Amino acid sequence: MKYVEKVLAEVKAKNPNENEFHQAATEILTSLEPVVSRHPEYEQTALLERFVEPERVILFRVPWVDDQNKVHVNKGYRVQFNSAIGPYKGGLRFHPTVNLSVIKFLGLEQILKNSLTGLPIGGGKGGSDFDPKGKSDNEIMRFCQSFMTELCRHVGADTDVPAGDIGVGGREIGYLFGQYKRIKNEHVGVLTGRGLSYGGSLARTEATGYGLVYMTEEALNVRNDSLKGKTVIVSGSGNVAIYAVEKAQSLGAKVVAMYDSNGYIYDKNGIQLDVIKQIKEVERARISEYAKRVKGAEYHEGCKGIWNIPCDVALPCATQNEVDAESAKALIKNGVKLVGEGANMPTTLEGISAFQKAGVILLPAKAANAGGVATSALEMAQSSGRLYWSFEEVDKKLKGIMVNIYHNMDNAAAEYGLSGNYVAGANIAGFKKVAEAMLAQGIV
Ligand code: NDP
Repeated sequence: MKYVEKVLAEVKAKNPNENEFHQAATEILTSLEPVVSRHPEYEQTALLERFVEPERVILFRVPWVDDQNKVHVNKGYRVQFNSAIGPYKGGLRFHPTVNLSVIKFLGLEQILKNSLTGLPIGGGKGGSDFDPKGKSDNEIMRFCQSFMTELCRHVGADTDVPAGDIGVGGREIGYLFGQYKRIKNEHVGVLTGRGLSYGGSLARTEATGYGLVYMTEEALNVRNDSLKGKTVIVSGSGNVAIYAVEKAQSLGAKVVAMYDSNGYIYDKNGIQLDVIKQIKEVERARISEYAKRVKGAEYHEGCKGIWNIPCDVALPCATQNEVDAESAKALIKNGVKLVGEGANMPTTLEGISAFQKAGVILLPAKAANAGGVATSALEMAQSSGRLYWSFEEVDKKLKGIMVNIYHNMDNAAAEYGLSGNYVAGANIAGFKKVAEAMLAQGIV
């Protein structure tokens, strides 16, 4: 049995029922095969076995009291996956679907994504099965304070620096940071995505969505094409989706559809982003409101139908496995040219294979959405230096990083005879640096 197959079989046997983790490990390890076969020392040092095993998994109880004085208990997680190239770095997700498998898949992806940015950050991820939807601000605050009361023992500016993810935005980061500072008596860069008044970086809010579109534009530019005049679909309507729409529109694309977890909107005239921002960022309401406020817009219950809308570019920006084989086939049939993954692992393995067979340009999440964590690392640099960079300065660095990542994964794919296979290219480019650092540091 080949080394990669052996390790994958072990991952499945040792971590039963962790389907998302198996899926991510399969996607990554399978595409690393050509690299692994050139490096027999990886097997001798059990490098892959160490790569797929988190350095540390922290699981904890998060008790909190709601506005009716009822006590609730949620599960808290922090997976400190790999610190070979820098302190653990990766977001916190608050969503009822969170479990160990989800956090491990996100953590494993994060190792390679962080490496791809070229910045010194290791991989980690965390979160809770807490559902922020429908909770009052005070309930959110009490939950965040309880979560950080335990988490603060394990994180630190040079150890592990969490950030936001699904369900964790500026409000939650503020409450988490306040509690960390209160317990530790330290005003340090222990979390990124902080507000501008207490150490945050300009352009962090926009970074993931903007970064996704910068890479998309570069992938089109090298093919003598651009986003100008393209019809685009963006799934989700959270942080990543909103700023992907903003940047795509500024480059002349027409975004015609978005969704939240209840259903999708279709606006053939082009989505009015100010209305979406008011509904989602200010009112925290449902996207169905859009169709009530904008003439000519349609709302449809359920998410899946969005992928039947004809488009040139699809940017899935909501959650894992939102584009399955059937949705991929519908997109291909309607002539999609490029799929840029804003969310983590939004395409199933079957969906990826359908896009690749059809020659669709697929920009994989760990490269395409790396702008968020890259800007988080820029926030860390500003925190350490006790200084602030302008929006333009951060945005320029972000754009440079995204263009660089695109060419690095393109070159890595070509080096192994896999030109145009960016899934493989991103995994290979990210992995090589981590592997080198792990080998240099001995058996740890
Ligand atoms: P948000 O919580 O801001 O937004 C998530 C959006 O996705 C919401 O519109 C939400 O709808 C929708 N959504 C969530 N679950 C589902 C589901 N099961 N079906 C349909 N829609 C769903 O999260 P972010 O924008 O921050 O994150 C989105 C994705 O991007 C995630 O995969 C995340 O890991 C990834 N990412 C985020 C980064 C960041 O900087 N924020 C960085 C890199 C990756 P509803 O409001 O109804 O729940």
